[in-house]
Amino acid sequence: MKNNIKKIDNIALKDYCSFKIGGIGKCLFLPKNLKELISLMNFLIKEDEPYFILGNGTNVLFDDHGYRGSLISLKYFNSIEKIGDEIICGAGVKLFQLCSFCVDNCLEGFEFLYGIPGTVGGAVFMNAGAFGDEICNYLSEMTVIKEGKKINIKNFNFSYRKGPVDDNCVITNVKFKLKLGDRNRIILNQKQILERRKNTQPYGQPSAGSIFKRQHDVIPAKLIDSWGLKGLKIGGAMISCKHAGFIVNNGQAKAGDVKLLIEIIKYIAHLHGYNFELEIKIL
Ligand SMILES: Cc1cc2nc3c(=O)[nH]c(=O)nc-3n(C[C@H](O)[C@H](O)[C@H](O)COP(=O)(O)OP(=O)(O)OC[C@H]3O[C@@H](n4cnc5c(N)ncnc54)[C@H](O)[C@@H]3O)c2cc1C
Repeated sequence: MKNNIKKIDNIALKDYCSFKIGGIGKCLFLPKNLKELISLMNFLIKEDEPYFILGNGTNVLFDDHGYRGSLISLKYFNSIEKIGDEIICGAGVKLFQLCSFCVDNCLEGFEFLYGIPGTVGGAVFMNAGAFGDEICNYLSEMTVIKEGKKINIKNFNFSYRKGPVDDNCVITNVKFKLKLGDRNRIILNQKQILERRKNTQPYGQPSAGSIFKRQHDVIPAKLIDSWGLKGLKIGGAMISCKHAGFIVNNGQAKAGDVKLLIEIIKYIAHLHGYNFELEIKIL
């Protein structure tokens, strides 16, 4: 490639994900704008090079042997602005930043996102949600790069923890519509949400959030708890004693430890007649 897209070779993947697990990644590209991103995507497609779009790495498990494709970060797509009751923001904006922007601009609705450690791009891709609400309920438009071309999407088809775009698409910008609200109430709601998270989840420990998706009234965390699996350990990975839907890294966990725990849970679920679907992305 002839241009100067920022690239870091041989990255320690554990430093790029909340699980703190993973071998060495071949390279990470950090395009600064749409032009660089499109040129990069066209190059990777032409070279038939596998790639993965990395947000804040809070819903992924990297392999102990690393990743041989290219990782792409939209960290520099970090603009955020308000027009009326709408927010237009880049996919690289962190959800914490989005939530404080909402406070500064008295925009209500996104309090449920407070404390989710991802980016806007990752949250829209995953249709992040909590406490009965989902990010798709506030989305009015998004811009994606598909097969090297920029397209705007206004009609979406979201489902539980699944956004409307395929794995090979890159979300670059999104537009959210929120309600004007009271600043103090927004701050109070955010604080309460964060407290709830800290009380019910292993918040400070390395993890990737819920491992399995909920399916209607099937709540994996409740079932895993009822099967007495909380605290089960393989190597450095353990089913959290605080929230059975989370696997935590006690410091030295390998991806293989996490995968084995996942297999054990799936096997036990299968014996009880359930088919658990993964929420996290395993590379
Ligand atoms: C402590 C903790 C609590 C959590 N609580 C919740 C919760 O309450 N609710 C919830 O829904 N999730 C929760 N999560 C999971 C996770 O934070 C969310 O799914 C988050 O939205 C993922 O964002 P990310 O930027 O980290 O994405 P990543 O983990 O980096 O990526 C996730 C997926 O999104 C894709 N992706 C990322 N950015 C883009 C982009 N710009 N364009 C296209 N695809 C992209 C990636 O390719 C990957 O497939 C939690 C995780 C942790 C560690």
